[in-house]
Amino acid sequence: MSNITNARVTAVDHLTDRLFSFTTTRDPGLRFHSGQFVMLGLEVDNRPLLRAYSIASAAYEDELAFLSIKVPDGPLTSRLQHLRPGDPILLGRKPTGTLLPELLLPGTRLYLFATGTGLAPFLSLIKDPELYARFEQIILVHGCRRVAELAFQRMIDEELPHHELLGEDVRARLRYVPTVTREPFRTRGRINELIDSGRLSAMLGLPPLDPRTDRAMLCGSPAMLATVRAGLEADGFVEGSHAEPGHFVVERAFAER
Ligand SMILES: Cc1cc2nc3c(=O)[nH]c(=O)nc-3n(C[C@H](O)[C@H](O)[C@H](O)COP(=O)(O)OP(=O)(O)OC[C@H]3O[C@@H](n4cnc5c(N)ncnc54)[C@H](O)[C@@H]3O)c2cc1C
Repeated sequence: MSNITNARVTAVDHLTDRLFSFTTTRDPGLRFHSGQFVMLGLEVDNRPLLRAYSIASAAYEDELAFLSIKVPDGPLTSRLQHLRPGDPILLGRKPTGTLLPELLLPGTRLYLFATGTGLAPFLSLIKDPELYARFEQIILVHGCRRVAELAFQRMIDEELPHHELLGEDVRARLRYVPTVTREPFRTRGRINELIDSGRLSAMLGLPPLDPRTDRAMLCGSPAMLATVRAGLEADGFVEGSHAEPGHFVVERAFAER
């Protein structure tokens, strides 16, 4: 059996000239855990051209959602950005990844640190009741260069708090901190700077991150992953894996080529 299935695009939304989101049909046989990624792509010259993509919808949803960059000369995204509803798309059969609550030791608070399209797996996780069952508080920090790139602000700020099943948990326990580096905005600065300076804790009215109570998931640019990981490790946080749960887990939002 092939490792690739065919799906159809159901909607496309261009957020900026660098960013778009789209949804696809979901094969009933495709199972995944919220937070995982899957291989996704198009047939080019009769061959599949696939890249890793985080699934932005929760595991229980009927359609699959994705958030994508547009790399002008990128082999896949230079084509993918022209998708229209009804178009065919290729999906791998084996979602995988490390942004899974079970790879974390029990804790009180969960910090989700994302830059750019690294938000996608957390959009999936914050819609999953399991996350609210495991943690008393969930703090989603999303860093971007520009305000327009803060994708899904409205969904997180306005729609999720009224979600039929999750609304009460979201209102009581999800905190959302968008931050921007290159334009005026209510919160400015890189994620590692917000943590290290104490601004994040002060803003939230919470104590500084502590491995005894806090857990973290990281998904973003290589620079964000390196700086935030270094800060966490200096504070005594240990990375979790499929072999052994820890205080934090990491996924790349993209690979530098
Ligand atoms: C585990 C994992 C999950 C991923 N999830 C997503 C996702 O949900 N959404 C998404 O858009 N991409 C995601 N990516 C990146 C994706 O696999 C491709 O790299 C991206 O779609 C561009 O493909 P391309 O063929 O056009 O260009 P590529 O040749 O793959 O990339 C060209 C260059 O563009 C830059 N780049 C690629 N992707 C990004 C990005 N997302 N943000 C900023 N710069 C980037 C990098 O510098 C890269 O070297 C993920 C990558 C990994 C490893």
